[in-house]
Amino acid sequence: MSPNLKANCPIYLLSTTLPCWKCGREQTVIALAVHSGVTVEDGEELEFGDPADQSDSVMLTYIEMLPSEVLTAAVEINPRFERRSSKTADTAYYCNGCDCGAFAGDHYLFSDPGEGFFPTTAEEAARIHYQRLPFKGVMPFNASWSHGTGRLILGHGQREPADVVGGADQ
Ligand SMILES: [Zn+2]
Repeated sequence: MSPNLKANCPIYLLSTTLPCWKCGREQTVIALAVHSGVTVEDGEELEFGDPADQSDSVMLTYIEMLPSEVLTAAVEINPRFERRSSKTADTAYYCNGCDCGAFAGDHYLFSDPGEGFFPTTAEEAARIHYQRLPFKGVMPFNASWSHGTGRLILGHGQREPADVVGGADQ
C-alpha cells in the first residue's frame, strides 16, 4: 500500500476514555492529529490544515498505514489499537479495541458531537489528554483527515510530556 498522505510533524497522540458500545466499560482510545499535511489524489497534491497555526489541529482518521514509530507510541497507550476490517468503511484500518474484543470505529470516535475526539465545549475537551511526539520532518500515512474541533482539544485538553517513546518534548 502506498501512502496517500504526508503529515507535517509535530504529530500529536491523543487519548481519552469512553464507554465500550458492547460491554459498557470505559475503554482507553487513542487518536492522531497534526497541524497540517498534504494528501495525494490522482497525482495531485492538496494541502490541508495550516502549518503557521499551531493552535489548531486536524485529525488523521481511517488510518490504513502509519509509520512504525508512531504505531509503537500509540500501542503504548492502547495495546488494542489494531488494523481491522470494517464492514461499514469497506476497508481495513487501525481502530481502538476494548478488552472485551469489541472495536470502536472511527465514526464513533470522530463524528459524535460531545463524545470521543469531537468535543463541543472546553469541558469536554478537558477529558482529552495529548502529547507531542518527538518526531521531525514529514511522515507518510495512508489515511483520511478530518478538520473537527482540534482547536478546542489543543486549547483545553491536558498536555502531557512525550515520555511513552522515550523522547524529550522539545
Ligand atoms: Zn468492551
